[in-house]
Amino acid sequence: MKIRELLEGRALSLSFEVFPPKTETTFESVKQATEEIAALRPSFMSVTYGAGGGTSRYTLDIAKNIKERYGVPSLAHLTCVSSTKETVRERIADIRAAGITNVMALRGDIPAGREHEDRSGWDYAYAVELVRELREADADFCIGGACYPEIHPESADQREDIRHLKEKVEAGCDFLTTQMFFDNNLLYNFLYKIREAGITVPVIPGIMPITNANQVERAMKLSGSFMPQRFKSLVDRFGHDPAAMKQAGIAYATDQIIDLYANGLTNVHVYSMNKPDVAAKIQSNLSNILGK
Ligand code: FAD
Repeated sequence: MKIRELLEGRALSLSFEVFPPKTETTFESVKQATEEIAALRPSFMSVTYGAGGGTSRYTLDIAKNIKERYGVPSLAHLTCVSSTKETVRERIADIRAAGITNVMALRGDIPAGREHEDRSGWDYAYAVELVRELREADADFCIGGACYPEIHPESADQREDIRHLKEKVEAGCDFLTTQMFFDNNLLYNFLYKIREAGITVPVIPGIMPITNANQVERAMKLSGSFMPQRFKSLVDRFGHDPAAMKQAGIAYATDQIIDLYANGLTNVHVYSMNKPDVAAKIQSNLSNILGK
């Protein structure tokens, strides 16, 4: 199923993200975790590409497995930074050959030590170029793009970021998924601004359940997200106690999701980080809301 079709419905749904293994030795454990998450029958599952330390060549294997063994629609991520046209075209051909129709088109982060301007050997500067390439390769692809309620860290201001986002959507995005955020008001404000700018495609909010104190710093560094006082107090109070922190982090994420549904968002994407227990707990917290 195409994600754009899913988003046309009014039913509330939950989707999950997994990342591929770093090495062959961890492939089986990641496969097991993704299968346990797929067994929860989410609306779809996304598989990152090269992010979280994962090896890119496993992205398709995992996405294909989720789709074929579990009948759960999968969304394969693809990045273009530091790639040549030739490599990207090969990857697109692999995606088509694997029968994957949902693709998340990303630029990827600039590798440490390289400046964005130093593009020798790279054929892509921004995700918009990958979106165009995917759209040309297959008019039937359902293409997702990333967006940033709190501004992408490289952008000078939100107006500029939204102008580039609009260009990316016009190049062929069917939907957008947000960077994690911990204050829903930031999302509502962002939605107002992008709608005003004429971006009309569906937006899927991305929620990261913070289940241990170490994750906090990493998540903030990665996303530059604002940490509300309510969330800070929770980490201060429970951060030293792993079981309590996990419970509190899951409750916080659940609360965010309920508020998003209550405010008209229909599908929420959970950055479940290969943790089936966390995905299952969030889903069971929402059992009556989701009718599962
Ligand atoms: P872009 O859309 O290209 O935007 C990057 C920056 O460039 C922004 O500041 C934008 O305003 C600016 N910009 C865009 N177009 C132009 C232009 N024409 N001129 C000047 N400036 C411009 N990373 C991975 O490596 N693998 C993954 O699987 C992955 N999955 C992700 C999923 C989601 C939902 C999100 C939010 C992020 C994900 N990332 C992933 C991280 C992402 O690759 C980084 O955030 C990256 O820095 C930007 O990617 P992008 O696709 O948003 O880039």
